[in-house]
Amino acid sequence: MIRFATAIGWWVSLVPAHTTSNGKPLNFRTYDASLRFPKSMLGRVDAILAEVKSMRDQGFYVYDSDPYFEEIRRHIHGEPLTWRDRSGGVCDSPNLYFAVLPNADMAVCCDWRMPSKISVAAANFPEIYRKKSTFDEAQSVASRCDGCLYGSFPEISISARYFQPMLKRALFFGKKPPDRQLAKLSAEQMLQIAADIRAKSPHLYRQVATNKAEPKASNSEELGQ
Ligand code: SF4
Repeated sequence: MIRFATAIGWWVSLVPAHTTSNGKPLNFRTYDASLRFPKSMLGRVDAILAEVKSMRDQGFYVYDSDPYFEEIRRHIHGEPLTWRDRSGGVCDSPNLYFAVLPNADMAVCCDWRMPSKISVAAANFPEIYRKKSTFDEAQSVASRCDGCLYGSFPEISISARYFQPMLKRALFFGKKPPDRQLAKLSAEQMLQIAADIRAKSPHLYRQVATNKAEPKASNSEELGQ
């Protein structure tokens, strides 16, 4: 996936599976506990995270910052998240981000809703958004959240509150010509790129095609390195 994204000029960000319980439904989290990594796999997960980070450092189009990688590791290990520690343990909604629902209502984020209805389509939305009551409402909801690793929210807080990621992103977005242009490719060219990548790791794709158990690949092999 990372190789394909890089070849077509698309930047990727990792988002680990988020789970929740029936008693605490959240819009972007599954009830399927089998998506949590068992303890026996944590070493392998850490090794793959290290490989992806290394691919990023080699120039592959992986957007994630070092603090974000560490938070993914913490999330998967079931450790408390720390990316909100610099903002009193509450994320930066609605100051640095919020979500917009399909009906144009403002939401705290993809998981949580605002108690009152605030439409971004309303002519006076800018004034309502700047009201302290809107800030308090969103923060009151966010303060009850255990945190998330949905790239769009933590990465924005990290970019704003951690010096090195902030500097790296300023350089990244200020670079001319930018490193973030999609390649102009036809569907056939993209299919060929995908086929070339699959051909380099046939052991991965045989598993999908035949549904037969294959010997476990090493982390490097899994990443196509
Ligand atoms: S940490 Fe903030 S953005 Fe993430 S799920 Fe909780 S309230 Fe939403």
